[in-house]
Amino acid sequence: MPTKNYFDNTEVAFKLKSDSELERAYFLFKMISKEPLVRIGTAVTKFALNINLPVESLIRATVFDHFCGGVSEMDCMTTVDRLYDVGVFSVLDFSVEGKEEEAQFDATAKKVVELTHFAKNKEAMPFSVFKPTGFGKFDVFRKKSEKATLTESEENQWQQIVRRYEDVSKTAYDCDISLLIDAEEYAMQDAADMLCEKMMEKYNREKPVVFNTLQCYRWDRLEYLKEHHQRAKEKGYKLGYKIVRGAYLEKENERALEKGYPSPICESKKATDDNFNEIMTYIMSNLDDISLFVGTHNEGSTYLAMELMEQMGIAKDDPRMWFGQLYGMSDHITFNLGEMGYNVAKYLPFGPVKDVMPYLIRRAEENTSVAGQTSRELSLLKKERNRRKL
Ligand SMILES: Cc1cc2nc3c(=O)[nH]c(=O)nc-3n(C[C@H](O)[C@H](O)[C@H](O)COP(=O)(O)OP(=O)(O)OC[C@H]3O[C@@H](n4cnc5c(N)ncnc54)[C@H](O)[C@@H]3O)c2cc1C
Repeated sequence: MPTKNYFDNTEVAFKLKSDSELERAYFLFKMISKEPLVRIGTAVTKFALNINLPVESLIRATVFDHFCGGVSEMDCMTTVDRLYDVGVFSVLDFSVEGKEEEAQFDATAKKVVELTHFAKNKEAMPFSVFKPTGFGKFDVFRKKSEKATLTESEENQWQQIVRRYEDVSKTAYDCDISLLIDAEEYAMQDAADMLCEKMMEKYNREKPVVFNTLQCYRWDRLEYLKEHHQRAKEKGYKLGYKIVRGAYLEKENERALEKGYPSPICESKKATDDNFNEIMTYIMSNLDDISLFVGTHNEGSTYLAMELMEQMGIAKDDPRMWFGQLYGMSDHITFNLGEMGYNVAKYLPFGPVKDVMPYLIRRAEENTSVAGQTSRELSLLKKERNRRKL
């Protein structure tokens, strides 16, 4: 591991934040560090939004503006440009979740196609992204994953999902933009993986255009990766993978218990960390075949990647190797990596306040004292407040 702590520089980490934005972030992380407050806060917010209480402006002024780029893609452009000025790329993420209508799935796919065309002429945006359940119903993915027989209507819906995957993948190929596909819940992921493999087989012939995501809290992912690598070699196409630890830990363990199947999740945090690092090392050792997007806020894994790059003679700006963090989190990693010349991007979510609530709730939950990320964010914010004498 590099001996110096490269991420300690809070002046670099928070250089885009004004004093008032820094104070807001400090206040916010202090609030969401309290687990009971997050639990009560999310319940009250959901209720208030459902009965149309006017809480949107309050949400906008607090969590929304901290974790999102805006309501529309145009709102995000100032942030995209400011990030690019300091060496950080943007992945615009239309984070509308929980939709169930075919017309809404079409609208989301259309939005991803539009954003991909837009990104073609915007150097600051080398990636597009979408979530499988943004393009179709969770239950259709789930039944397809279980190899259950679909009703005629479900079969039609599946064909529409395939068409939407095809539309965005072809657009990404035509625009020469890499397309990241997020991973979601275990119960529906097999069908999403299978469809993604088809897109890769078609569009990754010359280079990786379509990227799937491996959630390394799943103990079966290294084996899956190795098998997929073998299949891709036999069929003559390249792979692209984003690796993350995984965001649905409690839900997965609860569902496995409820349905009586073994949990797909590693037995401990340490096992997840080891799995993440092993998967990352495997990909980096096969960079000619597999491009990598390391999506993490974990300093240890980021250091390991930097160390391996040095050992393996991989240039900091090698186009096959990317780092990524979520907007509003771990700026100390993002901005210091950018300053050192690594390829690094922020996932920048946007969408109507009500529709991005599931995303915001996941962020609040993963930042409680229980999940353990807040204390680090808070201590860095505190350090920078002291440095600025606020
Ligand atoms: C750019 C980017 C893209 C992302 N895309 C996705 C995506 O497509 N799909 C998705 O699911 N998530 C995605 N995430 C979210 C990611 O999964 C979370 O950021 C992650 O859960 C936090 O992990 P970390 O690597 O930052 O590090 P850490 O904070 O060190 O790790 C926390 C994670 O470790 C795991 N963990 C914690 N406790 C245990 C335990 N007891 N047993 C086993 N494992 C445990 C969990 O996954 C937990 O979230 C993305 C994140 C980023 C930065």
